[in-house]
Amino acid sequence: MALTVHKYGGTSMGSPERIRSVARRVAKWARAGHQMVVVPSAMSGETNRLLGLAKELSPEHTTPELLREFDMIASTGEQVSSALLAIALQAEGMQAVSYAGWQVKIATDSSFTKARIESIDDARVRADLAAGKVVVITGFQGVDPEGHITTLGRGGSDTSAVAVAAAMKADECLIYTDVDGVYTTDPRIVAEARRLKTISFEEMLEMASLGSKVLQIRSVEFAGKYRVPLRVLSSFTPWDIPIDEEARSGTLITFEEDEKMEQAVVSGIAFNRDEAKISLMGVTDKPGIAFMILGPVAEANIDVDVIIQNVSHDGRTDFSFTVHRNDYARTMDLLKAKVLPVTGATDLIGDAKICKVSIVGIGMRSHVGVASRMFSVLSDEGINIQMITTSEIKTSVVIDEKYMELAVRALHKAFDLEQAAAA
Ligand code: ADP
Ligand code: ASP
Ligand code: MG
Repeated sequence: MALTVHKYGGTSMGSPERIRSVARRVAKWARAGHQMVVVPSAMSGETNRLLGLAKELSPEHTTPELLREFDMIASTGEQVSSALLAIALQAEGMQAVSYAGWQVKIATDSSFTKARIESIDDARVRADLAAGKVVVITGFQGVDPEGHITTLGRGGSDTSAVAVAAAMKADECLIYTDVDGVYTTDPRIVAEARRLKTISFEEMLEMASLGSKVLQIRSVEFAGKYRVPLRVLSSFTPWDIPIDEEARSGTLITFEEDEKMEQAVVSGIAFNRDEAKISLMGVTDKPGIAFMILGPVAEANIDVDVIIQNVSHDGRTDFSFTVHRNDYARTMDLLKAKVLPVTGATDLIGDAKICKVSIVGIGMRSHVGVASRMFSVLSDEGINIQMITTSEIKTSVVIDEKYMELAVRALHKAFDLEQAAAA
């Protein structure tokens, strides 16, 4: 008997009507003989609403004690949607039970608001499945060693679902969302974006890490580590379409590189508006300067993404890096207090109106000139590149936020990613 994990995102769970449709779809799979574990997100908008309430009372939320309370609040969204789904399943005549993360239990570390799953004890879930029940497990949350509720970072229900599928050695994990698969770029930005029938695990990992929110990056990491068969598909197809058809729809994440050999050099374009750029001007150029600047930033648990150090003139150089926008104000304060006085910097400049646009493709490994083509396309559009970073299968540029859509559209067209025109 196949064990299948379904994950439904916020829009898919967005109303009682949508939840009823999810219940009917899940019941269809269960009646066809699948053992079903379902991981829902909170109803759409709910996590934002809950975090908004918390931020009204405390705009600064940097201490572990405050972050703990943020997780207490944010985790309730999934508890509500999971119970609603179990109720809807029972109304469809199924036996169903819902569990919060701590009840399963999904053990995490104690990094509130961005906890990592450490282990999953699936004994209770297995017993329920053996008794013929559909098991609903809250997405996005777990419990730390001291029993505190934790959450896994925004979009974390994807990770919950894949981690559960990995722990239970499920036959497949299906991520149901509001688009019908992974596209060459966000179809909400580029109407001509094309759905990919398959995408390699490595490309999906890059796309997710570079800002394509269709899958949370950690879910892709789990899928890779445990080889979880993973598919992204739509929850907006009629719930009663034949299972065979449904199971072949969407986008399959593949682990076999060879399948992609003949495909495009660039497979997709990702973008990220969540970063901010910080520049220290005129720092003394001497060994250890990068550590002097970024050491305190790392100590404050702030992730740094792109880094660039200019050629020095007269023993001085400019040093720029990007951080998440949520960490921008905190990083600026920290640099002013601890770094500016000791680096000899003449100025500290922050810019939160930037974005990062990336081209991704395993074909870039075997083709030269792809990055320079990207630069020429952006130059033709009059877009200035502020920072560049590359890896074997991606090139990213940091540009002014106001050119983001223009850049994504131009690159999408230049790299032939558009849908074939209708005949
Ligand atoms: P869910 O609530 O189901 O988890 P998300 O909003 O987290 O849904 O993710 C789905 C959204 O991801 C889509 O609505 C789409 O706008 C966005 N997205 C970004 N990049 C891509 C891409 N390359 N392919 C498909 N969707 C993408
Ligand atoms: N509800 C959480 C969020 O909005 C988790 C998720 O949707 O995956 O980020
Ligand atoms: Mg999501």
